[in-house]
Amino acid sequence: MNRKPIIAGNWKMNLSISDGVALASTIRDRCSRYRDVDVVLSPQAMMIWPIVKRLEGSPIQVAAQNCHWAEKGAFTGELAPAQIKDAGCAYTIIGHSERRQLFGETDAAVGKKARTLHDQGVIPIICIGETLEQREAAQTINVVSQQLVTAISDLNDDEVATSVIAYEPVWAIGTGRTATPAQAQEVHRNIREIIVRHHGDAIAQRVRIQYGGSVKPNNVRDLMSEHDIDGALVGGASLTADSFVQIVAHREDID
Ligand code: PEP
Repeated sequence: MNRKPIIAGNWKMNLSISDGVALASTIRDRCSRYRDVDVVLSPQAMMIWPIVKRLEGSPIQVAAQNCHWAEKGAFTGELAPAQIKDAGCAYTIIGHSERRQLFGETDAAVGKKARTLHDQGVIPIICIGETLEQREAAQTINVVSQQLVTAISDLNDDEVATSVIAYEPVWAIGTGRTATPAQAQEVHRNIREIIVRHHGDAIAQRVRIQYGGSVKPNNVRDLMSEHDIDGALVGGASLTADSFVQIVAHREDID
C-alpha cells in the first residue's frame, strides 16, 4: 500500500504571531514543489487564523495542538473541534505526551477528542508513546497498545483509516535522543498489527503512522526508509525553515 508521507511541525508554545506567520510563509514558498508529501503546521492557537489565511491556496494544512471533546459550552480556555474546523484546521494533535504528563490528559479523554474531531471532519493526529521507565521494563508495546486501542475505540473503520497515529517515545522528545530506525519500525509494525486485529488489514494498511522524537534533517531519511514509518511529527526542528524544509524534502538531495 502506498501511503502518502505526512510531515507535521509542532511549534508548541513558541513564536510570536508575526514570527509564526513569517515562518509559515517561508515554509509555504520553499515547500510548494514537494507535492508527494503532506505538510502540516501546528502553531499555537492564537496564530492559527492568520496562518490559515497566509496559507490559502497552498496545499499546506494547519493543525491545532489540542482540543476539548465537547461541542461547546462552559469550558473556559478550551477549543472546540467545531471552532478548530471553523478556523480552517484540517488536523488536531491529541494525546501529546506533554498534555498527558503536564495536563493530565487520559487515554479516555483522547478517545473522546478523537470522536468529536471526526464528527467535525477534523483529522486527529493521535500521539502515543512510552516513557523510558516503561521501555526499560519491556512495557512499550503494552503501553502503546492500551493508548491506541482506547483512542480509536469509538471510531469506525473509515475514521480509523483516515486518522494519523504519531508514535512518540517520551524519552526521545526534545532530548536529542532518537529511537533508531529499527526501534521505531518495531513499534510501528506492532501499532499496525494492533489495528489489523481491530479493523482488519485493509484499514490498517491505510493508516499513516508518524514517528516523533528528535527528528532532524540528518536522521529523517533513515527513519522514513522503514516500511511502517509514514511521516514525522517534528518539534524543535520545525521552528526554523531550513531544518523543517530539509525534513520535508528528505527524499531529495538538496532543497
Ligand atoms: C514533539 O514534541 O512532538 C517532538 C517530537 O519534539 P522534538 O522533535 O523536539 O523531539
